[in-house]
Amino acid sequence: ERIIAAGATFEDDAVEASIRPKRLDEYLGQQPVREQMKIFIEAAKGRGEALDHVLIFGPPGLGKTTLSHVIANELGVGLRQTSGPVIEKAGDLAALLTNLQPHDVLFIDEIHRLSPVVEEVLYPAMEDYQIDIMIGEGPAARSIKIDLPPFTLIGATTRAGLLTAPLRDRFGIVQRLQFYSAEELTKIVRRSAQILDIDCAADGAAEIAKRSRGTPRIANRLLRRVRDYAQVRADGSITRDTADAAMAMLKVDPEGFDELDRRLLRTIIESFDGGPVGVESLAAALSEERGTLEDVIEPYLIQQGYLVRSARGRMATPKAYRHIGLKPKPGAAG
Ligand code: ADP
Repeated sequence: ERIIAAGATFEDDAVEASIRPKRLDEYLGQQPVREQMKIFIEAAKGRGEALDHVLIFGPPGLGKTTLSHVIANELGVGLRQTSGPVIEKAGDLAALLTNLQPHDVLFIDEIHRLSPVVEEVLYPAMEDYQIDIMIGEGPAARSIKIDLPPFTLIGATTRAGLLTAPLRDRFGIVQRLQFYSAEELTKIVRRSAQILDIDCAADGAAEIAKRSRGTPRIANRLLRRVRDYAQVRADGSITRDTADAAMAMLKVDPEGFDELDRRLLRTIIESFDGGPVGVESLAAALSEERGTLEDVIEPYLIQQGYLVRSARGRMATPKAYRHIGLKPKPGAAG
């Protein structure tokens, strides 16, 4: 398991429950998203209506689940949580929907992984708060309409392109989360340290933030590992030096890249002459799944300007060459 993996581990889940922001004011960064949601929530409450359905895009660990809980809290309603692959049959979704209280939030993580049959049930539910359910089998089968309480669907997905157009069109509010700046992540680390009662100096928090790939989940995890290091190898307090030494031990470099990132850059440069190389070939060369490359590894490398994605494939930029200690190829991308 990568220390800088953006997906949640069991340990993350346990700790995150205590440090997850509950209100919009505690949800740091994502300024435009916060501003908009504040208005939409206030307006819906003022009208006494359910909030419009919300679609949240963003790489793992950026705060999609957190934002959904914050929205429900701010609305003062309940939240039910499920995920695309968990809803196997239309009946599973019907059971969830019919158990909602008026104005409740139904949060579906990985909504792009809903089966087509289940997705069909969702359309009228979202549009008219109604579902059509088939009862019985064979010639005796008939469809019945069930009215639902007005509710808000919040769907989360890692990539925009994975959603079908009809589903996407049914969301009134679409929010795209961005990677966090080092300053924002520093605030997040300091807030978490305070809640977890970790002695963390400002420069220590900044050092952790810088290496967290713009991702709060990674920042919170690195904070816990650096704490371990500080406890055993130092006096327990996190400073820039202890953070630095702990990161060296964890093999997370100053850019927040690990072995896998470096291997990816090195493979494009050394095995594919800097690219362009198709994602399938790259995935095969790295023995990684294509989805992992596209969702987890590439977004941050691209955002930071180490990699460009073109119609012909991935290309390493001069920055990537320099990062692994090579001279950029003349005419390299970027
Ligand atoms: P996602 O659903 O996008 O994978 P999560 O919502 O589970 O990500 O976020 C992972 C963790 O990061 C949360 O437990 C929370 O502690 C922290 N986090 C996420 N977004 C924020 C934020 N805006 N401010 C502070 N902490 C955050």
